[in-house]
Amino acid sequence: MDYEAVIGLEVHAELQTQSKMFCGCAVVDSTQAEPNRYVCPVCTGMPGSLPVINRRAVEYGMMVGLALHCEIAPVNVFSRKSYFYPDLPKGYQISQYDLPLAINGWLTIEVGDVEKRVGIRRVHLEEDTGKLIHRDGVSLVDFNRSGVPLLEIVSEPDLHSLNEVRAYATRLRSILRYLGVNSGDMEKGVIRFEANVSVRPVGSTELFTRTEIKNLNSFRALLRATEYEIARQTALVAAGARIMQQTMGWDEVRGVTVPQRGKEYAEDYRYFPEPDLPPLEISREWVAEVAAGLPELPDAKRDRFVRDYGLSRYDAGILVAERAVADYYEQAVRVGATGAGRMISPKTIANWITGELFRLMRETDGDISAVKVSPAQLVDLIRLVEAGTINANTAKEVLEEMFKTGRPADAIVAERGLAQISAADVLAQVVAQVLADNPQEVQAYLNGKQTVARWLMGQVMRATQGTANPMLAQRLLDEQLAQLAGKRDV
Ligand code: ADP
Ligand code: MG
Ligand code: ZN
Repeated sequence: MDYEAVIGLEVHAELQTQSKMFCGCAVVDSTQAEPNRYVCPVCTGMPGSLPVINRRAVEYGMMVGLALHCEIAPVNVFSRKSYFYPDLPKGYQISQYDLPLAINGWLTIEVGDVEKRVGIRRVHLEEDTGKLIHRDGVSLVDFNRSGVPLLEIVSEPDLHSLNEVRAYATRLRSILRYLGVNSGDMEKGVIRFEANVSVRPVGSTELFTRTEIKNLNSFRALLRATEYEIARQTALVAAGARIMQQTMGWDEVRGVTVPQRGKEYAEDYRYFPEPDLPPLEISREWVAEVAAGLPELPDAKRDRFVRDYGLSRYDAGILVAERAVADYYEQAVRVGATGAGRMISPKTIANWITGELFRLMRETDGDISAVKVSPAQLVDLIRLVEAGTINANTAKEVLEEMFKTGRPADAIVAERGLAQISAADVLAQVVAQVLADNPQEVQAYLNGKQTVARWLMGQVMRATQGTANPMLAQRLLDEQLAQLAGKRDV
């Protein structure tokens, strides 16, 4: 029998507000800040301290809920989720339980050419815990992160492959970054995943017993752990064994999931409404205001790029994945449409960005914010190609230099004498010289070895350091060779 995977993701995303969820302490980069600097009685759980809801965090959560097409609840209730752990000083986490911020949404993902909607079950607000640091045989606690606003985004079990999991996680991260609520810096732990995994016979629509893999802090861990768990469960079920409902951990080093405990159920947490916080009412006016302030999101931007700039859906999709790249592109398009000279087509600009610029960014492992070539400088380079001053190959070299130094294209072209030789008389002399310098090869060509012509063309390009206008050079070479052949026949 064939089995299919059924996966639902729980994503924890920190909301990067100025201050924490229930106190005035600053939200800081917990991988950099001096431990326990940004703490107060509220976020360290001192008895008698009182929480106050951060309005901005609620707004950030609403933005995410709306971007995921959710309904925003008119009444929000915060609840205490009780458990003991050294990074949780109160002995409970303030979270949301039966009345979460947002419910019933969806996120569009694309795998190959197939587009599908993944259901969003709920989006709720909670607070992050502190951080344990195990070092030199002791365990230390840093409470800088304790009380940082955290959004939990729970999908329906609608994902059925690793590609879908990757697409969902990537797309969600992109949206969080578009909204400006989360930096997406995975290595700083600002987004963390939990994967719920089960398998079932292909064709079944039933939900079978699942396991939940906790604390997956990178895309790589998410995908590897999910892959391992699907294989483990498939083997067990195929052998007639039953899956136990369990909470699992991921052992990065051994590359295996390990059972941590029997699955905990809601009743284990003794959820009850937080008595120190009143229900939070969210007016429809407030929702409308937040909705009106949402930026254009990736899907809408992609469709607009296709419509307005004539890009393929695929290219547009690549350009909109990062908001900063999309902005860079549109700035270049604007400069290309105005500036001096002919209009540079948006399609040409897209090709240069997704081709050469992305290649250079990949090679240097840098993102668009580190690119020294401004959109206007890129357009200037493309203008040199379109004006015939340099050919496309030279332009790639020039771009590489621009990328390294941030210098403008025309300066590099002038300094290195890269301007394309288009003057026919100059180029004709170069061709003649190449033929004169290579009598044996010319003879071979005249004796019928056609392929030598290509080699001679290479010599012409070499003699001009690649700056010859290739079409013109080819024509002149053909002409001079024909002339030599004619002479011999006589
Ligand atoms: P809990 O609160 O106990 O973690 P939920 O029922 O709210 O559980 O589900 C949590 C996550 O588990 C959701 O993302 C959901 O899509 C996923 N899930 C539920 N049932 C299954 C299943 N049988 N297989 C895979 N994922 C599942
Ligand atoms: Mg869960
Ligand atoms: Zn505090």
